[in-house]
Amino acid sequence: MNEFELKWLAFEITPRCNLNCIHCRTNASMGLKDVLKYEDIISVIDEIAEEFKPVVVLTGGEPLLREDVFKIADHIKSKGMRVGLATNGTLVDRKLADKIKEHIDVVSLSIDGSTSKIHDNFRGVEGAFDKTLNAAKIFKEIGINFIINSSFTKRNQHDIENTYKLAKKIGAGAWYMFMIVPTGRGEKISEELISKEDYKEILKWHFYTELKENEIFVRPTCAPEYYALCDMEAKKNNINYERRNLKFSTGGAKGCIAGQKIAFIGYDGEVKPCSYFLRSAGNISDKGFLDIWHNSKIFKDMRDFKNYNKKCAACRYLNVCGGCRARADAYYGDYMAQDPYCFV
Ligand code: SF4
Ligand code: SF4
Repeated sequence: MNEFELKWLAFEITPRCNLNCIHCRTNASMGLKDVLKYEDIISVIDEIAEEFKPVVVLTGGEPLLREDVFKIADHIKSKGMRVGLATNGTLVDRKLADKIKEHIDVVSLSIDGSTSKIHDNFRGVEGAFDKTLNAAKIFKEIGINFIINSSFTKRNQHDIENTYKLAKKIGAGAWYMFMIVPTGRGEKISEELISKEDYKEILKWHFYTELKENEIFVRPTCAPEYYALCDMEAKKNNINYERRNLKFSTGGAKGCIAGQKIAFIGYDGEVKPCSYFLRSAGNISDKGFLDIWHNSKIFKDMRDFKNYNKKCAACRYLNVCGGCRARADAYYGDYMAQDPYCFV
């Protein structure tokens, strides 16, 4: 089996969005127009299907704003791949939920706080919280399994535990805590980013929460040092901690698998190792996706672990962590540099 097999592809099918989130990587808004035509999307899916069968997550912007979203989903499924939908949920009514159930395999909803005050402030639109909760309620009623994704900055970090409890209460199958990486609108909020010290404390809280959690699947996302921290805490406190906690559902066992098992295609066709990456490795209108995946410098560098910065290359956790390359780039202009949030 190829060590670097594409298992998970996030495909941003539109830059349009009905919300105005402070952390948006796309700077999405309703004023923008779709760049990729249906044919462009289908053609890259067909090309990928020749070699890989990843889960393709349709994202945006708000992917449900695209009229052909379910047609795209059907095409992906016809190629033997599973389809995910990452939505803010605010447009979902019973009729749309029935369509989602018919065409989509995995759904994620974004909730960034346990109250409307916190979530709506983060999402930039009043009433968003109630609509997203309503979507979760409809999903539950008609039997759609869903994941909750929650993003945190200084603004809402006090509410992490309550948000996790809310995800459980509304019946999510999994809760993923995202550590924001500065990009898109997020760049302007770098002063709002959770401090390195708090980052470590939050990951510690997550580790002990995860140990007790047996109803839903939880994991911190874009926090590769978590996998080092789990090992350190387990050893320090003699905790019998199962290796399964080190695995991503995307099939990788490393903290960050950007460019190794996952990739991102932006609304403009730019291909990147992950959605937070600032640099593009190439555009699907110039090169084939597979050419970029196999031959671009950025993707090759992401797999060249020995050439990561000295601290990572010599680190005993390189194989389970590897640091966040997007964060290193955002801070130092060098994606092979030290992850500025490494606390090991
Ligand atoms: S490079 Fe950073 S932001 Fe991208 S997937 Fe890895 S940990 Fe997440
Ligand atoms: S040195 Fe690198 S691999 Fe080791 S814990 Fe820090 S970021 Fe992860």
